[in-house]
Amino acid sequence: MSECLFCMIDKGDLPAEKVYDDGRVFAIKDINPQAPVHFLVIPKKHFSTILEIEKDDHELIGSIYSVANELAKKNGLDKAGFRVVVNCGVEAGQSVFHIHYHLLGGRSLKWPPG
Ligand code: 5GP
Ligand code: ZN
Repeated sequence: MSECLFCMIDKGDLPAEKVYDDGRVFAIKDINPQAPVHFLVIPKKHFSTILEIEKDDHELIGSIYSVANELAKKNGLDKAGFRVVVNCGVEAGQSVFHIHYHLLGGRSLKWPPG
């Protein structure tokens, strides 16, 4: 998956502002932030969409929530609230086909997201 944007960022072939890396999961600042805090939490294993997640991946995918929690606390979002969201497929607005969990916070967020 050398042509995949997030695989390339993980390998250091493209620059990004990394805010977390534990060897299995990394997080970067979104290049086009939609909130004062907008990170992307990304498993290094390439899944095109969440539809590719299998039982063997549950521990890895679960650990993404620990990373999101840690980053939310570190950035002072835990008291006021924040959002973790995944887009799956074109109609949901997915534009990068390597799964990523948007962590958004630092402002009041509307619902439904549209
Ligand atoms: P999606 O639309 O797939 O749910 O989210 C993709 C996200 O990746 C978007 O929020 C977009 O701004 C972000 N993004 C796209 N290209 C880059 C890039 O090269 N670097 C970073 N840091 N974020 C990117
Ligand atoms: Zn990838």
